[in-house]
Amino acid sequence: MSCDKCQKQAAYTRKYSGETLCSECFSNSILHKAAKTISKHKMIRNNELVCVAVSGGKDSLVLLDVLNKMSKTHNFRLMAVTIDEGIPGYRDEALKIVESFCTKLNVQHRVFSYKKLFDLTLEESLQLRNDQKLSSCSICGTFRRRALDHAAKSINANVIATGHNLDDVLQTFLINTLSGDTTKIGWMDPDTSSNKLRKIKPLSEIYESEIVFYAFTNNLPFQTEPCPHMDEGIRTELREFLNSLESNHTGIKNNMYSSIMKISQFTKQAEQKEKRKCSICGNECSGNVCSVCKMITRLTKE
Ligand code: SF4
Ligand SMILES: [Zn+2]
Ligand SMILES: [Zn+2]
Repeated sequence: MSCDKCQKQAAYTRKYSGETLCSECFSNSILHKAAKTISKHKMIRNNELVCVAVSGGKDSLVLLDVLNKMSKTHNFRLMAVTIDEGIPGYRDEALKIVESFCTKLNVQHRVFSYKKLFDLTLEESLQLRNDQKLSSCSICGTFRRRALDHAAKSINANVIATGHNLDDVLQTFLINTLSGDTTKIGWMDPDTSSNKLRKIKPLSEIYESEIVFYAFTNNLPFQTEPCPHMDEGIRTELREFLNSLESNHTGIKNNMYSSIMKISQFTKQAEQKEKRKCSICGNECSGNVCSVCKMITRLTKE
């Protein structure tokens, strides 16, 4: 079979659109999609420094590769940061992969650790935890958001880019819906233009399966070993559920994504809360104490 665009040997069939593409045209289509998402939501402005969160997994390495290619023809700069949660045996391998990929691309790279920022590694937090309802990923996610904010501020970046793909967005929406957390659904609105530090997801309109194929076809050296805590939450079950829906109803993920974009926009408007300062650490939050200080108090008092 040959490529629909250039007649070279085809390497990928995009089921939901019916396109058949060679490796090069496929990669270009991913760059084009990410560029369209960036411009639709005005994610990056002229002259900005983009802090790219790079964990070493496929999504973040694809993100770095895509943004690095775009930065050659657009007016913005990049710096990569990795958050070291302190997960023994897991993060060390990823750090080496990120280090050497950044050297190859000639992108500056810095590491920020939970231990330095919160005086607790993820592993230490898990040992302190008494309440088993508090999942590893909810502790980790609370700390990661703050760690990334800190990283971006310390390198003077205007915007934080993360590698979340379309499947991640759908799963997160279902997790927030199932837990009754409508505030977090509001946070999913991609328009963060009014925030001082903007968080962007340039790959959020791309299927996970296409991110995987991009990584393979461009020989990106990503870490394949998953985090040891990955299967503790409901996310893996939701991923499998959505994949089985997609295989029986091609394109259903795209439809769901469009609905989420509308719902999150309305929810954000309805849930707008006045911003206050945390009475413990001084960071911006919506109540008296921010989520990180609440988490640390909960862990260390238990
Ligand atoms: S899977 Fe959970 S615990 Fe592991 S790095 Fe991701 S958020 Fe943290
Ligand atoms: Zn082609
Ligand atoms: Zn605080």
